[in-house]
Amino acid sequence: MQRFDVLVVGAGPAGSATAHGLATAGLRVLVADRARFPRDKPCGGGLTTRAFRRCPVDPTEVVEERVDLVELRFRYGDSVVRKAAVPVIWMTQRRRLDAFLLDAARAAGADVREGVHVSHDDGVVSLDGERVIADVVVGADGANGQTAKSLSLGGAIVHGVALEGNVPYSALPPDRYRHRAVVELADIPGGYGWVFPKGDHVNVGVGAWADEGPRLRDHLAAVCAAHGLVPEQLENVRGHRLPLRRPGTRVAGERALLVGDAAGLIDPVSGDGMYECFVSAGLATAAIEDLLAGRVASLEPYGVALDAELAPLHRASWKLKRALDRWPRASWQVARTRLLWRSVERLLLGEIGSPGEQRGLARLPLRLLDGLGS
Ligand SMILES: Cc1cc2nc3c(=O)[nH]c(=O)nc-3n(C[C@H](O)[C@H](O)[C@H](O)COP(=O)(O)OP(=O)(O)OC[C@H]3O[C@@H](n4cnc5c(N)ncnc54)[C@H](O)[C@@H]3O)c2cc1C
Repeated sequence: MQRFDVLVVGAGPAGSATAHGLATAGLRVLVADRARFPRDKPCGGGLTTRAFRRCPVDPTEVVEERVDLVELRFRYGDSVVRKAAVPVIWMTQRRRLDAFLLDAARAAGADVREGVHVSHDDGVVSLDGERVIADVVVGADGANGQTAKSLSLGGAIVHGVALEGNVPYSALPPDRYRHRAVVELADIPGGYGWVFPKGDHVNVGVGAWADEGPRLRDHLAAVCAAHGLVPEQLENVRGHRLPLRRPGTRVAGERALLVGDAAGLIDPVSGDGMYECFVSAGLATAAIEDLLAGRVASLEPYGVALDAELAPLHRASWKLKRALDRWPRASWQVARTRLLWRSVERLLLGEIGSPGEQRGLARLPLRLLDGLGS
């Protein structure tokens, strides 16, 4: 039987970032994943600059493209292109990013086990049947993980679903997508389509409410058609769930907590989750250090800290999501304005934590969207 201060279940960005933080703080941490790395995970692989800045180690060496052009389109027709002063999204591939982050956790001193299944049975945690004792358990096992349920955490999480695939640049007009993220607002309930540039290919995807699942391939085909592609040209098409937390979701107990997708932290409107992985990993590390140093009696303050940091952003995102679903054309008229772009750029850069922090005239379109989504 092995003993650790902390067991982290899952080595995606949330788990590896948490393990990195805990190991750096000198704690004995074990991070375990059923996959062997490098492994892939369905994802657009776009690190917003705010996520990039919160990443515990500089991920530049796994960045394939910097995006400073954002092209927004409505129903595959009307469009605007906005240019940012500096890159707002850093494009990577999850196969590369996740292996890089896990290596960083290992280098910081975390014990890493790959290719092992973590199970929970009546409060006993085992790795492929071998019992592990840890003072704290961190659920970082993603959208389909079982840790939350077995620790009586989570709940109140609703799901979106997303599907994506890759197309080599050789199949596309030269330079059309370089440095550019294309976002298709296209009557896809609860979501949108995207085309993201990578080193030698673009990533094409769609996200939507979970009950759009049966129609997701049709939505993806429509996005392909709008870019002169047929779905058969997409390689490695894969889908995955997007867990969206509702207020009241319990993310921490006495000696256990959830980070990243396991906690349902995906941004409801953008579908991004890596910023939230890094924010939750940082707060989880601080909360666990406090608990193990005897400064607090439980990990519950983590939930409060998480709400303080993410709830204003996610509340605004829920409203914008409702506005886009209910009043797509009116929302588009606001979304395409230069004045709204000012706030979007500042949010992507992490200069403001939520739309509510924007000041001056630029608040006007935000208020309109807030009204449409109320
Ligand atoms: C199609 C799609 C596109 C997306 N695009 C973006 C984007 O461009 N930008 C962005 O910021 N976010 C994006 N997201 C969201 C992002 O992918 C997630 O927020 C992110 O992967 C969450 O990371 P995580 O570490 O919480 O979980 P994951 O990355 O899902 O990692 C969980 C890990 O836990 C392991 N695991 C699960 N159960 C067990 C077990 N019992 N034992 C051991 N290991 C276990 C799994 O093998 C996995 O490695 C996208 C999501 C989807 C579905």
